[in-house]
Amino acid sequence: MYSNPLYRPPSEARSLIIQVTEGCSHNKCKFCYMYKCKQFRNKTKEELIDHIKWLKRYEVSSERIFLADGNVLCLKTDKVLEILEMTKKEFPLVKRISSYSGPLDLLRKTDEELKSIRQAGLELLYMGVESGSDNVLSFMNKGVNQQEMIEAGQKAKKAGFKLSCMIISGLGGTDLMEEHAIESAKVISAINPDYFSLLRLVVEKESELADDIKQGKFHLASPLQIIDENIIMLENMELNDCIFRANHVSNHINQAGTLNKDKEVLLQRLRKFRDSDDFVPMTFDTL
Ligand code: SF4
Repeated sequence: MYSNPLYRPPSEARSLIIQVTEGCSHNKCKFCYMYKCKQFRNKTKEELIDHIKWLKRYEVSSERIFLADGNVLCLKTDKVLEILEMTKKEFPLVKRISSYSGPLDLLRKTDEELKSIRQAGLELLYMGVESGSDNVLSFMNKGVNQQEMIEAGQKAKKAGFKLSCMIISGLGGTDLMEEHAIESAKVISAINPDYFSLLRLVVEKESELADDIKQGKFHLASPLQIIDENIIMLENMELNDCIFRANHVSNHINQAGTLNKDKEVLLQRLRKFRDSDDFVPMTFDTL
């Protein structure tokens, strides 16, 4: 009894997923096709009770629970608190509850509201920063600018959440490659999340961005340009004890480390790939 498609971050592969809402209330990002076929809606309390009963019928239980779909924090704070209470009561073994969180939702909540949600048990938030460049954020219809993105991330940290931020390599295309790299490093450094993931842009045929590519408004970066962009981004990143991963199926090169501690080693490895005549990037593309 899930409404498909259903998404969760790679690190929630073993988590029990409770689908609290359907879709994404923003649903306007040009590159994103995740919830385009879904009209955003909140589940009623009765629907949620039935959904949980259905999950329990299969005796699924988990120490980790992920609340789907795209942005549970767009719900009113009372509703989020009620859902967290219900989750802890029905799944008493749970040790970690997480969800995606849009920057707009974090900005709309007060510091006190966010703290109460954190204290009620929501521990880890995944926020798609996508880019730190105002131009890229605006072109992609993310709905916030650089300053607002920083504010949203810092607000989550201040309220005590563990925060995982994602940047999409290649989102500046060839025209804004350097700006995307430098400004993204600036935003991630200002937030200093607990986890930082670097994914690579994979364009879905049905997305708005695919039309832009056809019309010559956006030019996809090549694998070597993506590596150059990654190098510039890492060079400009100033982080403290941040777990870094670029091990998604979309990445050309798998990377993992702790920033800034492993920055030089990661950079040396990237430069070695870039300068090697034998470099064959791992690719996963849809276009
Ligand atoms: S990237 Fe996130 S905020 Fe944007 S449409 Fe997709 S799910 Fe919604």
